[in-house]
Amino acid sequence: MSSAAPPRRLTRLVKVGGVAIGYGMPVVVQSMTNTDTADVAATARQVRELYEAGSELVRVTVNTLEAARAVPFIRETLSRQGAEVPLIGDFHFNGHKLLSQAPECAEALAKLRINPGNVGRGEKRDEQFATLIEIACRYDKPVRIGVNWGSLDQELAVRMMDENAQAAAPEDADVVMKRAMVASALQSAQRAQKLGLGPDRIVLSCKMSRVQDLIAVYRDLAAQCDYPLHLGLTEAGMGTKGIVASTAALAVLLQQGIGDTIRVSLTPEPGGARAREVVVAQEILQAMGLRAFTPQVTACPGCGRTTSTVFQELARDIQTYLREQMPHWRKHYPGVENLRVAVMGCVVNGPGESKHADIGISLPGSGETPVAPVFVDGQKTVTLKGRDIAREFQAIVENYVKSKYAPGRVA
Ligand code: SF4
Repeated sequence: MSSAAPPRRLTRLVKVGGVAIGYGMPVVVQSMTNTDTADVAATARQVRELYEAGSELVRVTVNTLEAARAVPFIRETLSRQGAEVPLIGDFHFNGHKLLSQAPECAEALAKLRINPGNVGRGEKRDEQFATLIEIACRYDKPVRIGVNWGSLDQELAVRMMDENAQAAAPEDADVVMKRAMVASALQSAQRAQKLGLGPDRIVLSCKMSRVQDLIAVYRDLAAQCDYPLHLGLTEAGMGTKGIVASTAALAVLLQQGIGDTIRVSLTPEPGGARAREVVVAQEILQAMGLRAFTPQVTACPGCGRTTSTVFQELARDIQTYLREQMPHWRKHYPGVENLRVAVMGCVVNGPGESKHADIGISLPGSGETPVAPVFVDGQKTVTLKGRDIAREFQAIVENYVKSKYAPGRVA
């Protein structure tokens, strides 16, 4: 973690499988599958893809009996492949029935996610909620009580709106709705505790789809409890919009120490990789100095002084190369995720930025001698030229990693 990283809000510690959430532990990256959970092979494949991208917890939808019965097989398939990532079951409407009929599902899961707005109505709501909590207690599973703007408990919302309407100075409906989100999470957590679930088995979330709403709700929630909080901007959207909106919301909260696990709810491009949401979540945490996952490449944007696409291609290729090496490097070169590489377009900022990185290259800009000085640990070591600059630079990076991060190396 960077020395400049913001201090974390101190919460209770919740263990999900082998992963610790809260109590100042590193912020955990989560993701969710979009396969039919009843399809064991497809779901196990996607969970593995998310896990290999770096997801530390993976949530799967459990919406039918077939899906519930498939969960132990998914778990078994993953464990056989060495992918010991904890699985979270996402339950709505019929979770009480599914878990009663297929208790092996509860056993195979590391955590249950329940949405108080989708547990049931009236008396049934209390009964069904109690069934879910009793099952969580029986199988000793933590629960995320996940309130969502799109499925807020309507009975609670109406009651709070009515009370507000009777008040001497009624508040804006929007403010009351946000208070209802927080109240729904906290009241459900209190009820779960009364039913026997330990406070160290509860994680809360209150997901909103607008950035300012999310920030306001989580600040309020964080001020009122010491449960770990799962952060995420729900329905963030596609592409840059989804990435920017998620980053804006999460960065503000993380900077205030709020947030113990995160998920970036990106809509994938058609045919796009589901694992992109994992990469974005990691990049948010790394950019904030909260965690390090993969070597970072500093690259200038290029300008009129760059004469060709060589510089852009090199920046792209080295970034891809570093990320592709990580599954192997992570195991063999501990600490490599802190490596900093600079790829710069010309002599204006190139040598300076390259010296600040562990390894840097400054490509020739327009009118400059066609050579590329390489800096290692702040010292110019070699000057590359010709067509093979990219390949030679990659080899320099690889050798550096092997020599600097090999276990047992004396610094
Ligand atoms: S380092 Fe050179 S090429 Fe890159 S943006 Fe600055 S002036 Fe332009």
